[in-house]
Amino acid sequence: MKVVISEFMDEASVASLSEQFNTVYDPGLVDRRDDLRALLSDARALIVRNRTQVDADILAAAPALEVVGRLGVGLDNIDSESCQVRGIAVIPAVGANALAVAEYVIGTAMVLLRGAYTRSAETAAGQWPRADLSGGREMAGKTLGLIGFGGIGQLTAGLAQALGVSVMAYDPMLAADSPIWGQTKVRPASLDEVLTRADIVSLHVPLTDQTRKLIDRNTLQRMKPGAILINTARGGIVDESALADALRAGSLSGAAVDVFDNEPLPKESPLADLPNTILTPHIAGVTLESNIRVSALIAQRVAEHLQGKIK
Ligand code: NAD
Repeated sequence: MKVVISEFMDEASVASLSEQFNTVYDPGLVDRRDDLRALLSDARALIVRNRTQVDADILAAAPALEVVGRLGVGLDNIDSESCQVRGIAVIPAVGANALAVAEYVIGTAMVLLRGAYTRSAETAAGQWPRADLSGGREMAGKTLGLIGFGGIGQLTAGLAQALGVSVMAYDPMLAADSPIWGQTKVRPASLDEVLTRADIVSLHVPLTDQTRKLIDRNTLQRMKPGAILINTARGGIVDESALADALRAGSLSGAAVDVFDNEPLPKESPLADLPNTILTPHIAGVTLESNIRVSALIAQRVAEHLQGKIK
């Protein structure tokens, strides 16, 4: 019984799978589709992150596949419908990297608001850019607007509240009388309220037909002047050219972007060289600790599935 792992996974979890199953671990497979297809000819399990496209082509090469483990949460790189038709279970690592993303949101929000951390070389050289850096803003007293209030949104809210930030969230799938609002002390809001009132807007929705380009030229224009936007959700949710224009025009005062239309980012990306903008290579959910949690969860759930303990 073969398990194929096509992207990086914590070694201890790979070792635990190898003890139980014939396991092929090659994090370079994601970039070698032919090799991946060949290895899948007799595989019963495939474990991926977000870069391996588990599409019709890969599924056709894997006639014995029973389970796909996803080392993360978003499922947009997996053809879940075809998996369902074929009876292939798709197992995401729900919750295991949420804290890493929530800390990324708070960390980047603080860096962007304060704007004081990019002048080390000048400071060391005695140039003392104190006047330039005296206009930084504090977190306390600001309003955080979350778009999507699931696992990551809720954790982010808790961290922000501890810093004196008030939090509102737009999530039409969460009923207005859901106990989650009371438990988290977060105010349910319309999309327009989030856009027009929040100093920091952070996206925590999956990429679906409803959320594709949710943040476009129109919605960006609705945002409070000087607000910041943080996207750790998925690239397709934000119109990258419109975001770049808003940052250049100064209507937004900063952005942190971890996820992109095309990853790796193409050279001609509109997001290159923007003021007060942090770009990171899809690592919001990846820390030493979260990689261990995500890998252990997926190794355990995939093993249970192959052993018939869960269906
Ligand atoms: P979740 O499923 O717990 O929460 C998503 C929430 O979005 C749900 O409450 C849902 O009701 C809401 N939602 C769905 N459609 C909506 C819409 N049209 N408008 C408003 N709200 C809507 O998921 P999560 O664990 O909080 O993760 C959110 C997303 O973050 C994932 O889908 C994934 O794409 C992304 N993510 C990125 C990283 C990273 O490293 N950058 C890591 C983990 C997750």
